[in-house]
Amino acid sequence: TVLTCSYLAKAKRWTMAKPVIAIVGRPNVGKSTIFNRIVGERISIVEDVAGVTRDRIYSSSEWLTQQFNVIDTGGIDIGDEPFLEQIRQQAEIAIEEADVIIFIVNGREGVTDGDETVAKILYRSKKPVVLAVNKVDNPEMRSEIYDFYSLGFGEPYPISGSHGLGIGDLLDKAIASFPEKEEIEYEEGTIKFSLIGRPNVGKSSMINAMLGEERVIVSDIAGTTRDAIDTPHTFDDQEYVMIDTAGMRKKGKVYENTEKYSILRALRAIERSDVVLVVINAEEGIREQDKKIAGYAHEAGRGVIIVVNKWDTLEKNDKTLDKFTTDIREQFVFLDYAPILFVSAKTRQRLVKLFPIINEVYNNHSMRVQSSVLNEVITDAVAVNPAPQDKGQRLRIYYATQVAIQPPTFVVFVNNPELMHFSYQRFLENRIRDVFTFEGTPIRLISRQRK
Ligand code: GDP
Ligand code: GDP
Repeated sequence: TVLTCSYLAKAKRWTMAKPVIAIVGRPNVGKSTIFNRIVGERISIVEDVAGVTRDRIYSSSEWLTQQFNVIDTGGIDIGDEPFLEQIRQQAEIAIEEADVIIFIVNGREGVTDGDETVAKILYRSKKPVVLAVNKVDNPEMRSEIYDFYSLGFGEPYPISGSHGLGIGDLLDKAIASFPEKEEIEYEEGTIKFSLIGRPNVGKSSMINAMLGEERVIVSDIAGTTRDAIDTPHTFDDQEYVMIDTAGMRKKGKVYENTEKYSILRALRAIERSDVVLVVINAEEGIREQDKKIAGYAHEAGRGVIIVVNKWDTLEKNDKTLDKFTTDIREQFVFLDYAPILFVSAKTRQRLVKLFPIINEVYNNHSMRVQSSVLNEVITDAVAVNPAPQDKGQRLRIYYATQVAIQPPTFVVFVNNPELMHFSYQRFLENRIRDVFTFEGTPIRLISRQRK
């Protein structure tokens, strides 16, 4: 139960696109220390369930009542570029992705060339920058910070990442600098979807092929929000919006091919989507990174479809498809509900099936079930497989009700929520899935004590 409750809290935090803070600065100034201070201990559920380890460069957090996401740009590995080039690119990512930038310098070293390089890039953007002077571990050192006025970002904030000093004031300032949100509303019933995946799996090719589909009417390709490009279109009388973060289709920058950056992109797209297509490259098979990306979609509670692209590249026999399916089911255990489609953007094989599957998953993701039927299902399930006893007490289930959609969320009233073990909960979930068509959507089950 602890698991499911944090699940729901987490899902709720994801439903709106939140403002983003990016941390920049040259190596060793303390970026990751401060990132960890800001996000605290947030253990991912997918990490727990699927054994997927996640490099933490992106996390949600909150300060007072404001929720936001934080990026540690220092964790984005640009490859073998020279040092100055790396920090230059990290600063560019910050400008592109963030609403507010926290620029960190080292109070023990004074202003360096590296700091000035970062500063020059940040000047060129219109994004608010808050300058933090780190490693100011004691009050006597506070006078050191005045040198940093020369960087041109106004008042420097003295902080100590390792001692946790000054972080509150810094966050107050960062949050006060968030711009007004301009989230566009689409008509009810419009399906927002996105394609996510590692670089080169064929996302852009698929998008072009899908939007090039004869019956698709693209109404308008516009830079609608500051960082997303939405493509509204109609197909067979259904309205869709394809969410494309910061122009997936216009590429060129070196960092756009880095895997961590692709995760960032994916996260921004997931936040605004109802249904997420997780694209895998058949030619290369399943990679660790695919699982991470898919894990985010699952955790965010979105509808998920697994799309295996470049199906044309494989030598196939009558077992290839089954074998690939088995592999996916083994590797993406947490996505057992997601339909799998094998396509080729190149030959257009099975692309026509995509929109109907998106519709179906969307409907399942938004489905409400009747309480009476739900309770029958649960009563039958308990009759077939009674809840096990624990410390002499048996779980009793009184009543269940659906409390939310997108994803469908059920509250089960019981005598004692601690008696609802993970395996029994899975059993109930599976029984619910057997009866209702929840293909493509996660469902949540929350146990509550009956008052
Ligand atoms: P990054 O490369 O910018 O992400 O920097 P890290 O967070 O990895 O920190 C670099 C080094 O500085 C580590 O050895 C940290 O322990 C140390 N450090 C970070 N913050 C502080 C601080 O406030 N005071 C002191 N004295 N050391 C710090
Ligand atoms: P993205 O980085 O995920 O957007 O991937 P792209 O759409 O840019 O595709 C990467 C490369 O894979 C390009 O050279 C495409 O031509 C190629 N590609 C994409 N889809 C397919 C496919 O279905 N079959 C084959 N053989 N190549 C593909």
